[in-house]
Amino acid sequence: MAKKNNFPIDAKKNNREECYACYRAKKNCLCGSVKPFFTKMRFVILMHTKEARKQRTGTARLAKLCLKNAELLIGTEFTQNERVNSLLQDPSYSPFVLYPGPKAVNFKTLGNALPAEGKTLLIFVIDGTWACAKSLLNKSRNIRALPRLSFSRSYMSGFAIKKQPREHCVSTIEALYYLCEEAQEAGYEKLNAANEILMVIFKKLVDTQLNYQMGKDRGRQYKKPKKVPGDLNA
Ligand SMILES: [Zn+2]
Repeated sequence: MAKKNNFPIDAKKNNREECYACYRAKKNCLCGSVKPFFTKMRFVILMHTKEARKQRTGTARLAKLCLKNAELLIGTEFTQNERVNSLLQDPSYSPFVLYPGPKAVNFKTLGNALPAEGKTLLIFVIDGTWACAKSLLNKSRNIRALPRLSFSRSYMSGFAIKKQPREHCVSTIEALYYLCEEAQEAGYEKLNAANEILMVIFKKLVDTQLNYQMGKDRGRQYKKPKKVPGDLNA
């Protein structure tokens, strides 16, 4: 009977050197491209624990490195999370969760719901697969109770590798880029294209991933003839 391959994730992780900031393999580290910029709105990225373990295609950490007014928290549910609850109780914030829904508002329809002078938009962004994000939201009663913010139009993810189960399921870094764009269009942010860096990094990430995939495919094709005995072309 074949043994199940269930060696711990940490053992797997130690096989390559990782960057401690973006968690990518050192040779693919993108920290050098990061150009941090300031936004008026504050972001809290809630990273599902499962997503934190498989960071090869993760975009949340890189997004966080670009956004000066952001923080990243890891967990599966945040109902009792002290940091989240202290932010929610802070009267200087007007909190929303970035998540679609029938009652979701967007920067175009936000209008009167835009925070008054002296209040800052606080946006919780859930990082994880569609299923993980849904479960995180369902379990975190404090986040689930928040008004929802969504996009004014639908965007397609430029991720060719990670299969997005739904059209509007863009990666976290893309979501933050589009949110900055829409906030800017609505006159809420003045970023002078500083948010473009999010897309630049995203495209680099996709390129690395495509090269990796192509290398893997080439490797497969190349190895095959080698195994054939008496191959005259070898
Ligand atoms: Zn790095």
